[in-house]
Amino acid sequence: MDVDAGHGAALGGALPTQPGELPLARRLRSLLTWPTTETDPVTQLVRSHRAIHAGAEPSVLRRAYTIAENMHRGQFRKSGEPYITHPLAVAQICADLGMDSTTLVAALLHDTVEDTRYTLQALAEDFGHEVAHLVDGVTKFDKAFYGKAAEAETIRKMIIAAGKDVRVLIIKLADRLHNMRTLGVRSAASRQRIARATQEVLVPLCDRLGIQTLKRELDDVVLLHLEPDEHVRIARHVHDRPGWDAYLEEVVSRAKAALRRSRVDAEVTPRPRHLYSIWKDTVAGGHGTPFDLPRIAVVVDGPATDCYAALGAVHGIWRPIAGRFKDFIASPKNNLYRSLHTSVCGPQDRTVEVLIRTEEMHRSAEYGIAAQFRFPRAGGSATARAEQLDWLRRVLDWEQDAADPAQFLESLRCDLAEAQIQVFADGRQVVLPAGATPVDLAYELGTERGDRCLAARINGRLAPLSSELDEGDVVEIFTETDAEDDSDADAASHGPRREWLGFVKSPHAQMQINRWFAEHTEPGISITDKVRLGRATIGLALRKHDRGLASDLPLLRLSEELGYPDLETLLVAVFDRVIEPDTVVRQLIDLVDHRQ
Ligand code: MN
Repeated sequence: MDVDAGHGAALGGALPTQPGELPLARRLRSLLTWPTTETDPVTQLVRSHRAIHAGAEPSVLRRAYTIAENMHRGQFRKSGEPYITHPLAVAQICADLGMDSTTLVAALLHDTVEDTRYTLQALAEDFGHEVAHLVDGVTKFDKAFYGKAAEAETIRKMIIAAGKDVRVLIIKLADRLHNMRTLGVRSAASRQRIARATQEVLVPLCDRLGIQTLKRELDDVVLLHLEPDEHVRIARHVHDRPGWDAYLEEVVSRAKAALRRSRVDAEVTPRPRHLYSIWKDTVAGGHGTPFDLPRIAVVVDGPATDCYAALGAVHGIWRPIAGRFKDFIASPKNNLYRSLHTSVCGPQDRTVEVLIRTEEMHRSAEYGIAAQFRFPRAGGSATARAEQLDWLRRVLDWEQDAADPAQFLESLRCDLAEAQIQVFADGRQVVLPAGATPVDLAYELGTERGDRCLAARINGRLAPLSSELDEGDVVEIFTETDAEDDSDADAASHGPRREWLGFVKSPHAQMQINRWFAEHTEPGISITDKVRLGRATIGLALRKHDRGLASDLPLLRLSEELGYPDLETLLVAVFDRVIEPDTVVRQLIDLVDHRQ
């Protein structure tokens, strides 16, 4: 029950009431079904699920629970609780998020293949391929078997699976959230390690997918484990500040009155910051005491233009603070977050922050990629959804070029850690890591463009290829094809310059430049390079079949079967085209599929 309360709080905030039962109706119903409520652990899950998806069929959830419970029976969490409490809690998090039945079924079963004798094949037969794909995507590689590489392999596999179905990542995030909530029983060292890994990869992932409601709780639980004293200090600060609620109440009611006078239909609510965000602002600003400004959210019931009317109404009663207005509606953040932000000089001359958005913007700000599951009928433009996955697609693109999972994980970490900027090129917005240069942009626009780029014009001015781009820059890239007429130089003499490696920022550009040099340094190409490129070639061919190379094991077996002395020799043979990559891949897939 405390798990529930915790999550409910995270999902709180200014969200309009969900379509669902009235509390009274719910209570009556629970009285009527009293015997099962007490004995059936799935009841709460089904209820939360049907509160959002009224037509959902509960039987498949019960079936999944029964199998999971059966399989995990006799296993226990570190806390001493039966293991099944974990998948059940993960499914509950997914249900509160508003995910569909398929996700909930997969969440209930997410650890069965990894930790029990239940096989992926049996799971596919019992629940279908969709569920099997989701479970497979979050199934870890065995550390005992794969050693150090297991972690990187696991993340790479998960990202590839998410490229096909993003629900994989949502289950993974819910899984991690529950593990983080229950981290208290672990040793200090493993708490630190897990919290740190969560902060490095999963929190930014959650942010990229725009799921703020999960991110807030992940943030806070990371803070709890990494900075327990700070967590206590901030929590205490938020808990006892006399007059805070009354002040916010006054702000809300005066804002409401102003909006009414301007004929803007809107909900106005206090919008408290979460602990981590207060802590971050406190530390960043070098404040001795926790730094937290009163904040309200205005959710307008109308089109985006109403947001500007609301802004006018707010600025009409309280003077805006210069330099604090941000229009994320006209230029959304790169995780598609849209809102107007302003700070005003509120009652008693205190600074108040105001967020203004439409209902649709509010939903996608809270639920991000999960919004399409929570509000299936609300529509939401398909292009917005596609854009939300842009980042994932980009990651998958350079995944093809990563030499091995460790490099991939390193690049992923790097990409997630970077702040991002948006620039304009070829008439569209392109997202790049902060500090990116025209060369990064050129590679983002296409491998050819990168390899052949010669010069750049930034905001109408020629600029060195090493210039750092700024948010909003308009950039033109010139390639040697554009300059073809005035040169009879052999095209092969061009290509990336080695010094580019000194200033490019994105993992994608780095990998592409390395790839070019590896390809163009024959005949002096080393065996190591051939091995690496042979492996990359196979990786690429596998991608055509929507498969990835999770580990070397199948390759190793294949090289034996084909009579090569070792794996390296096979990879060199692939590079030299002694054996066709497609042939290797076909046999590889055969081998893997028939082993299961
Ligand atoms: Mn798990």
